[in-house]
Amino acid sequence: MPQVTLPDNTVLTIDEGATVADVAAKIGPGLAKAAVAGRLTAPSDGAHVVDLSTPIPGDCRLSIVTLKVEDADGLDVLRHSCAHVMAEAVLALWPQAKLVYGPTVEDGFYYDIDLDRPITPDDFPAIEKKMQEIINADRPFTRVDMHRDEAMVKLRAEGNRYKIDNAERAVGDTLSFYLTGDIPGREFEDLCRGPHLPRTSRIPAFKILSVAGAYYRGDANEKMLQRLYGTAWPSRKDLTAYLRRLEEAKKRDHRILGKQLDLYSIHDEIGPGLVHWHAKGSFIRHQIESFWKEEHLRRGYDLIYTPHIGSERIYQRSGHLEKYADMMYSPMDIDGVNYYMKPMNCPGHYMIYKTDTRSYRDLPIRMCELGTVYRYEPSGTLHGMLRVRGFTQDDAHTFCTPDQLGQELDLILELMDFMMRSFGYEYRAYLATRPEKYLGTEQEWDRATAELRAALERRNLDYEIDEGGGVFYAPKIDIKLIDSMGRQWQGPTHQVDLQAAKRFDISYIGPDNAPHEPVIIHRTVLGSMERFIGGLIEHFAGAFPMWLAPEQMRIINVSERSAEYAKEVAEALKNAGLRPEVDVSSDRPGPKKHRARQQRVPYIVFVGEQEMTERVVQVHGRNPEKPEDYVLEGTPTLDQFIAACINEVATKGIGKH
Ligand SMILES: [Zn+2]
Ligand SMILES: [Zn+2]
Repeated sequence: MPQVTLPDNTVLTIDEGATVADVAAKIGPGLAKAAVAGRLTAPSDGAHVVDLSTPIPGDCRLSIVTLKVEDADGLDVLRHSCAHVMAEAVLALWPQAKLVYGPTVEDGFYYDIDLDRPITPDDFPAIEKKMQEIINADRPFTRVDMHRDEAMVKLRAEGNRYKIDNAERAVGDTLSFYLTGDIPGREFEDLCRGPHLPRTSRIPAFKILSVAGAYYRGDANEKMLQRLYGTAWPSRKDLTAYLRRLEEAKKRDHRILGKQLDLYSIHDEIGPGLVHWHAKGSFIRHQIESFWKEEHLRRGYDLIYTPHIGSERIYQRSGHLEKYADMMYSPMDIDGVNYYMKPMNCPGHYMIYKTDTRSYRDLPIRMCELGTVYRYEPSGTLHGMLRVRGFTQDDAHTFCTPDQLGQELDLILELMDFMMRSFGYEYRAYLATRPEKYLGTEQEWDRATAELRAALERRNLDYEIDEGGGVFYAPKIDIKLIDSMGRQWQGPTHQVDLQAAKRFDISYIGPDNAPHEPVIIHRTVLGSMERFIGGLIEHFAGAFPMWLAPEQMRIINVSERSAEYAKEVAEALKNAGLRPEVDVSSDRPGPKKHRARQQRVPYIVFVGEQEMTERVVQVHGRNPEKPEDYVLEGTPTLDQFIAACINEVATKGIGKH
């Protein structure tokens, strides 16, 4: 009889043919009630999440999946099941609709629908009402396995070309369908791998969120579909909390704030995904770039610049034309040779390295560049500053001997940590190991991975293993930033390249007077300027700290007679190297304050006749909880205020502002 090992390592002996649900019941009635699926690890085929009705395949490890926010598998099963319910509701309302594809996404799910009438937010209540009826009907989700041939006959007879296409792309001899109910042919069913909740009534809380256009398979030559987004949560309370977070995120959306704060724009006439930095956005970028350069020079990096285009020869050699041609832009003919916009900066750095014979005494050599690259992204995936087609990477390459690798990784992790703290980000580290397809030998990979792991451990960093997540030429450490709203962002990456030296014939002369291959580390500490600053806008809700803020304080006169003093205050601040603006327009102080708030200026400074007589200023600073609000902080003398501001800029404080 099969032996089932539970998470606490107790072993249950169960009857032949028993299901996951039976095991849950054997553990206890509470768990049986809470269970929605099983996480099964059978020796033969790895770990996966299965329906409660799945028979135990033999000896295995099993943990019971329940609905709670900490259990990603449970959330996935819930949201996926809810997508089926939403699809059924849409079909009930518009029987002519064709269902396309309904996956889960972070915090929710969507379903792509081909329908001759636009779905609008006005339709959401009707769809939600129908969904609630299906949930209340407490119908089971029933899996039906079918041989591929039989399934294809069935799908062709139904005539939904998207489902036929999906089925053709699915692997294996068996295709599965899920019925929402138990009467085949009469109740809603969908081609699907599962798993699902046992019954519709197990969906505790859901909501339809939005609708957007999306091309079939992201292909702009294909039909535009309607993508209906929804979310589902283990409880009403979780749903409410999520909707509140969503509201907050909307207020922080960098595309909205980018416009409101006059930071950047994108122009269809010039091209989607190409960012134009306005004066204020450029200023913020300038501050970050200057800071970045200083910190690199301080750590022994050489600052370099390389061109934006390169001939096909270099991209043949790098392997880009072979492996990544579809993310590169079409070539331009220059004197009969194809040139490309550069998709990465590495080859230029290699060429500079190779202009001289390098000895082991010259190493390490660290080159850094704010290098602009161009990569194709499908138009449907472009998103403000976060997903773009041209961007400036804060790139660097370290060339070192194998013995120096540890010390160089330490330096890189120190710089990464320093940068993250400077901007108030917490972060998580991931060690991405050898993928299925890789170049080089297993020993090379093991050695490089061990160096990365040791570096993480020397820094006492908690990290997770991203098994098989390395790139084909390198294991890497990926850093994910956690912003002020607890969201994760793709951040810095550090790769130990095992192939570039061979491919580009890069060497150094060792103490034995023979040439050796250096280790090459690729890394970014911010990612790209576009993505990083786009994320920063949301992280700070547009309220940039003093050292980054294009305008640091706005001086507002409260009466006609204090206008001169306002200008005098501004002049003094400017002379101290600060960035004040003065508003002596004839508006009342209220509207003036409102305008300054809209711009998230760190300080609003009021001056009236009393302040003028006493040579003081009345300072309102941003409220850290609600950066659009300003709280009174007192009336320091002008000199005291200047000194406090200079100190705040110098320490790059991020706490309050
Ligand atoms: Zn499904
Ligand atoms: Zn590189």
